[in-house]
Amino acid sequence: MLDDYKEGQPIAYNIIKKEIKNNSIGHAYLFHSESKNVCSSFALAFAKTLLCPNKLLNNRNCADCSICRRIDNGNFPEINIINPDELWIKKDQLNDLQKKHQTKPLEGEKKVYIINEVDKLNVQAANSILKFLEEPESNIIAILTTDDINAVIKTITSRCQVIHLRREPIIDNQSNNESTLTKIGKIYYNNLDELNSFVSDELSAEKIDAIVNFIKNYEIMKVDVITKVKNNFIDIFNDKKSLIWAFDIMIFLYKDVLNMKLNRNLDIFDDYVSDIKSIADINKVDQITAKLKQLLVSKEKIKYNINVNLLMDKLILKMESGEVV
Ligand SMILES: [Zn+2]
Repeated sequence: MLDDYKEGQPIAYNIIKKEIKNNSIGHAYLFHSESKNVCSSFALAFAKTLLCPNKLLNNRNCADCSICRRIDNGNFPEINIINPDELWIKKDQLNDLQKKHQTKPLEGEKKVYIINEVDKLNVQAANSILKFLEEPESNIIAILTTDDINAVIKTITSRCQVIHLRREPIIDNQSNNESTLTKIGKIYYNNLDELNSFVSDELSAEKIDAIVNFIKNYEIMKVDVITKVKNNFIDIFNDKKSLIWAFDIMIFLYKDVLNMKLNRNLDIFDDYVSDIKSIADINKVDQITAKLKQLLVSKEKIKYNINVNLLMDKLILKMESGEVV
């Protein structure tokens, strides 16, 4: 439950703990972090704290009340969780949710809904949830999460209490000794089995190498990446989901280039320190930030039905010219 986050997420933990203590829980929260998993696990822990009858009786984690158990098993009726259906959250999913929240809670005093990856609401779906957020019922609490706060529709952000979460390691050990592959795995997987299978899959390392090589080709060797992209990159990242993932990795990479430029420790790409340094050496800070912005903008466009070839061509041209659209 929430107490598990006392050390790892002290800021968010203290805000929420205080609100619970003062009985001033809001009606809508938006948690954001670079890690989807940190967001969704924190949201669930918060929801449990709101719904579990033991929350104020002790400070220990409630592992064993029937409500917490039923939430874990997905059969407690006063909580509903929505995850995107592939790339989007569909209007049907939200209609269904709204129906479920028309009635008063049968058990306890509150109903809670969680919408994960709220950046994946399309405009139509966003409008239907806006009304819901605008006319809050006192016993309904909305918890939204995103790993891409800039892509969340502003009218949603403005109706929520926005709380940032750290990108927290899921396993307590020395992150300095971790490979780039493990660090990336931890952003996407929150259980050890999934993480291990990602790390031990040869393809995972190959994909990261392919991304680093693509950037190196473009930045250092100045080869004709437009041709190369079409040959290699799109072959490997051949559907929208994996292409979005590749863009995430490129964004992490340029953030580390920026870290290097500013003499800060690298977050992720320690295994590629000489590559990162070469890229940092030939870019000014504002060039790096412009490239980061361009990557964020292009990543958003992948969600819409866009021609991938064209998107990558434009990305490279825009990064080259330094103008961001
Ligand atoms: Zn409980």
